Amino acid sequence: MKHILIIGGGIIGLSTAYYASRRGHRVTVVERGDATHDGCSFGNAGYITPSHFIPLAAPGAVRLALRWMKDPESPFYVRPRLSAELLSWGWRFWRASTPRRVERAAPLLAEINLASLALYEELAAEADDFGLQKNGLLIVVRSDRALEEEAHVAELAHRLGMPAEIVDAKGVAAMEPEIRMSIAGAAFYPRDACFAPATLMGSMKRRLEERGVQFAWDTNVTGWRLGNDRVEAVRTSRGDLSADEYVVSGGSWSPSIVRGLKLKLPMQGGKGYSLTLPHPPHKSKRAIILGEARVAVTPLGEGIRFGGTMEIAGLQERVNPARVRGIVKAVVRYFPDFTADDFRGVDPWYGFRPCSPDGLPYVGRFARYANLSAATGHAMMGMSLGPITGKLMSEVLSDEPPSIDIGMLSPDRYA
Ligand SMILES: Cc1cc2nc3c(=O)[nH]c(=O)nc-3n(C[C@H](O)[C@H](O)[C@H](O)COP(=O)(O)OP(=O)(O)OC[C@H]3O[C@@H](n4cnc5c(N)ncnc54)[C@H](O)[C@@H]3O)c2cc1C
Repeated sequence: MKHILIIGGGIIGLSTAYYASRRGHRVTVVERGDATHDGCSFGNAGYITPSHFIPLAAPGAVRLALRWMKDPESPFYVRPRLSAELLSWGWRFWRASTPRRVERAAPLLAEINLASLALYEELAAEADDFGLQKNGLLIVVRSDRALEEEAHVAELAHRLGMPAEIVDAKGVAAMEPEIRMSIAGAAFYPRDACFAPATLMGSMKRRLEERGVQFAWDTNVTGWRLGNDRVEAVRTSRGDLSADEYVVSGGSWSPSIVRGLKLKLPMQGGKGYSLTLPHPPHKSKRAIILGEARVAVTPLGEGIRFGGTMEIAGLQERVNPARVRGIVKAVVRYFPDFTADDFRGVDPWYGFRPCSPDGLPYVGRFARYANLSAATGHAMMGMSLGPITGKLMSEVLSDEPPSIDIGMLSPDRYA
């Protein structure tokens, strides 16, 4: 049995804590916030996404991003700034956006998403307290051209053994009778699922407390005490903390956490927003993505959540009204019975998706230190991949070969 110290109490930190403690390790989670709102794991769309097997860095992504940069209300925006980190991240993103890399990454992304879904099903079987809804995902699109592209992606899904079907507008109306849509059709992924993210976070915290996991809340990790090839302790705002193993799960702040350790962990925070209507005029039955607008729609009990936009503009704690407007305008375009007035008085939530340049997370040990690992960089899939990341990390921390080959996820791949 080891003592494992996990930095970051987001979905990835809590999932790693859960599976490490199930293997009999003593676990401490160190979190600078209070586990109610910090980080990205609370107000997101809560999708479990086997359908998302194409990484963010894919052919055409750079061209699309450059086009969208001219429009502040577009789904993706990079604020041009003179930053060596941003330039080198962009260069690596571009290098990763090749058909060959996507071909290599897609089967792994499909495999880990499906494995994570199975673990969520296990968690729900233990205690069904986070609103798991297993009724699939519709990606609805407005143009025939986009529908053709979705048909092509559905073909790729079939090749990976993933069910996917193309549905015409009439078929979608039959599946979602309560929401009128102005669309050409949709791709339907029956294996996708969704849940209420903040409820899941509360459930994970409860499960960890029951297992005796220790939490150090309001504790900011500020540096490291190093031995020869080992970490001896983390320095925190409440003094030094020692353990046998250390895991960096600080989301978009992970690069600043490892500063001074001579490691390369390139990452940009991809800021996204969500708007939750507690009593919407209309409600969907299942998760729906507004395809061209990249807006995610999640049914949440009586309410509905709309989440979207990816803004690479540093870790600025400020709401950009143009990005929020972009989401509202998209909703009204796809769902003509909604109006901008439905969103009046709704407070936008935002979070920073931890984005690695190649769209794959960092999972595993660093070669430079015998007892330091990373579990971070999950971008738009952190909720989906939380449990499988936790399980794989628990194997790494127990010095066992991981049950899925995670060579492509090495945190040393940019060293
Ligand atoms: C609008 C939107 C919609 C999304 N929808 C989905 C979705 O449908 N499905 C999906 O899978 N993903 C989705 N995501 C992405 C998902 O939310 C993230 O991938 C995930 O939350 C990242 O989890 P994390 O644990 O890595 O990081 P975080 O949740 O950000 O947690 C990191 C934690 O580390 C703590 N921390 C940082 N620095 C320190 C320090 N120095 N000391 C101590 N603690 C520290 C932070 O306070 C924070 O709590 C969405 C994101 C957004 C913005």
